[in-house]
Amino acid sequence: MLRPILAALPLLACLTHLQSAEPLKVLIVDGQNNHKWEITTPVLKHALESSGAFQVSVTTTPPKGAPADAWNAWQPKFAGYAAVVSNYNGEPWPAQVRSDFQSYVHAGGGFVSVHAANNSFPEWKEYNQMIGVGGWGGRNEVSGPWLYVKDGKLFRNTSAGSGGAHGPQHEFVVEIQNAEHPITRGLPARWLHCKDELYSRLRGPAENIEILATAKSDLTAENEPNLMVIQYGKGRVFHTTLGHADYSMLDRGFYETLQRGTEWVATGAVTVTAEIPADFPTAEKTSPVLLEGHPKQVPPVTKPAK
Ligand code: ZN
Repeated sequence: MLRPILAALPLLACLTHLQSAEPLKVLIVDGQNNHKWEITTPVLKHALESSGAFQVSVTTTPPKGAPADAWNAWQPKFAGYAAVVSNYNGEPWPAQVRSDFQSYVHAGGGFVSVHAANNSFPEWKEYNQMIGVGGWGGRNEVSGPWLYVKDGKLFRNTSAGSGGAHGPQHEFVVEIQNAEHPITRGLPARWLHCKDELYSRLRGPAENIEILATAKSDLTAENEPNLMVIQYGKGRVFHTTLGHADYSMLDRGFYETLQRGTEWVATGAVTVTAEIPADFPTAEKTSPVLLEGHPKQVPPVTKPAK
C-alpha cells in the first residue's frame, strides 16, 4: 500500500512549488489602433499567460470619436497591476487617466509598449519620456534624436528629419546588443523574426534608455532598436517595436522577449520566464507559434527583403 503513495510524492511536491508562485497581474490596454487590435490582443494575452507567470486582464477604451461620457466612464485602475501593456495607438486619454498612468509608472509600476503604442501620444511629454523614442504623429528632430547602433556604439543623430519609417514587411534578423541584461541573457546573439515591419528612424527624448536588440534596416542601413528598456522615475519600461500583426507576434522570439520584458518591468528580475524554449528561433530559421482556434490575419504579398 505504501508504494503508490510514495510514487505520488514527487508530483505533489512539484504541484505545490508551481502553486506557490503567484501569477503577476498584467493589464493590456487596447481599443484604438491603426492596427488590428481586436486580433492581436488575444495573441498578447496568450503570449503572456502561456508562460504561467501572468494573469492578464484587458481594458478597452471607447472607440474613436466617442462622446465625453464614454471617456469619463473609462477609469482603469493601473495601480492594481504589476505591469501595463499598451496595444493602443489613438486619441488622447482623458487628463485624469494620463495623470494616473504617469504617476503609476513614476512610482514604480511596470510598462510595456508594443509596436504602434510608440506612435501614440506625440504631444504627451511624459509618455514620450517613458517610451524613449517613437514614430509618426508629426515626430521630428524637435522630438529628440534618432537612435541607432553602429559597431556596438549608440548613436544619437540630431539632424533634421521626420521620426518613424518602415519598408515592406519581411522576416529579419534580430541582433542582441546587450547580452548581460536579464531580458536578453542567454538568448542566441542573432535570431530570425517572423514577417513584420522593421521600424526605423524612431525619435524621442531617449533619456535613461538602454538598447537591448536591433535589426538592420533596408531603408537606413543602420541597426535600428527593436528591444529597449527605459527608466522612468522608479518605474521600468520595456519597449518592443516588434508586433505589427498577429503573424508577427505568433513568433517564439516575440513570445519569449515579451514574457521576459513584462516580468522584468514588474519585478526587476527575470526568473519565472528565464528558461529558453527549445524551439527558440535561430539565425536561419523562424519559429512560428501555433495558437489553436486563432482566426489568422493573412500577411500581405510583398517583395522579399533585399
Ligand atoms: Zn505596424
